[in-house]
Amino acid sequence: MKPVVIYARYSSHNQTECSIKGQLKVCYEYAQKNKLTVIHEYIDRAETGTNDNREQFQQMLRDSENKNFQGVLVYQLDRFARNRIESAINEDKLNKNGVELISAKENFSNDPSGKLLKGMIESVNEYYSNELSVKVKRGMGLNADKYYYNGGSVPIGLKLETVEELNGAFGKKIKKKKFVIDEETAPIVRKIFEMYNSGSTIVKIQQYLKTKGLKYSVCKVRTVLGNKKYIGIYTYNEIETPNVIPQIIDNELFEDVQKKLEKNKKSRSRLKTKTEYILTTKLFCGNCKEMMVGVCGTSKNGKIYNYYSCNNSRKKKCHKQNIPKDYIENIVVERARNILTDEHINEIANRIYELAQKEMNDNTNFKRLNKQLKENEQQNKNLMDSLKMCNIDNVRQNIFAEMQKMEQQRKEIEKELLLEGMQKIDITVPEIKFFLKEMRSGKIDDKNYCKMLVNVLIYKIYLYDDNLTIIFNSQDKPYKEKIPSIGEIEAKLAVCSNKECPAQPSQ
Ligand SMILES: [Zn+2]
Repeated sequence: MKPVVIYARYSSHNQTECSIKGQLKVCYEYAQKNKLTVIHEYIDRAETGTNDNREQFQQMLRDSENKNFQGVLVYQLDRFARNRIESAINEDKLNKNGVELISAKENFSNDPSGKLLKGMIESVNEYYSNELSVKVKRGMGLNADKYYYNGGSVPIGLKLETVEELNGAFGKKIKKKKFVIDEETAPIVRKIFEMYNSGSTIVKIQQYLKTKGLKYSVCKVRTVLGNKKYIGIYTYNEIETPNVIPQIIDNELFEDVQKKLEKNKKSRSRLKTKTEYILTTKLFCGNCKEMMVGVCGTSKNGKIYNYYSCNNSRKKKCHKQNIPKDYIENIVVERARNILTDEHINEIANRIYELAQKEMNDNTNFKRLNKQLKENEQQNKNLMDSLKMCNIDNVRQNIFAEMQKMEQQRKEIEKELLLEGMQKIDITVPEIKFFLKEMRSGKIDDKNYCKMLVNVLIYKIYLYDDNLTIIFNSQDKPYKEKIPSIGEIEAKLAVCSNKECPAQPSQ
């Protein structure tokens, strides 16, 4: 029996999330099935969205140094970290202490093809999930009221009015809140749209708002200027319904303002383009096995250089020299593309498919929900039957009430199923092949593409002084290649920007 600990995290602001109790139950079931002994539980409860210190998580990391346990069991990998980079860094810390990260829900094996599947799913989620999540949200919003107030703050210029409406087949009257124009503040909204459109700065608008007794941050002013409610569009779960709120701003003015906002946003973001180091969490120093991280420096003539640097060499504990970022990234991306031959694509597509199938069959939550749904249907049918047989008013009322309850329950189950389905790996061999072939032909100067390529195909890269070892997710044999010394690399990269300069390399 292998000693492990459980780490669980719960944030109360996310209502659809699995509760702590549920997470623990799944973890214990997994432990029993896989002969693991749980010796401790670490649980973080974040009460609000901002309070996320994860004290227990930090404690768990510290305790892992004592080597009392060999694994950390989590309900799902997203419990472990808030993003992929954080996840990889922390997993690396655990691995160094001889501790393995185990997910009870995603049963990815730790062998190369398991890693490949994991990388692919992560990438698909990261780069293609926007569309998917819109679809899911659309599904969930289907039964929701499209243009009634659903909580949240009411924007300036509008107010809420309570209306009564007949609801459903049972003819019950219910109270709902609806948006109407607030004649007191609507002129202020019109005024600031006109101000911005005729060239006023956000600061000027802030000053104007102050004269009306309103203290707005820059961000809040921008939010007002971009709020589609002012042109009558109601948005719920990313679905837009036009003509359901009284319009304060006419479409033309609104669009002009959006164009100006967009233009100003672009010039703001030009000022702070961030360099992305796509090999972060994948690149390791060959000498000391520490992670290499992105650093940037400025030369005497003010030019900015980007490098990867060994974590230990920055603390003067390792002699590894920094390597220019573009040089190493280009090599790795090229080699990753090269392994994607037709033959290899066929081979890995089949492997991924098998794993994905296994993963789906193991999904007990899916089975449980489907069973509940069937039971619900049966019970509803029984109630219908008894309703047909019965003509006593009182009893009929009770049956109605019971049916309403069942209806509510069915909606809840369907919602859960939808969420579960979002995580389901429903993928075919041709789809995987298509995905991999796309990866072969992406544009090399597209940073997102390169990032995805590295994330999916590469497990680890070890950089030695004279060679480079790449361990791919898709094949067991590591790839090795000799590399020139840093001095030679730098000399190759240093090309004078002055075209007249004699140091220009000859064509
Ligand atoms: Zn090192």
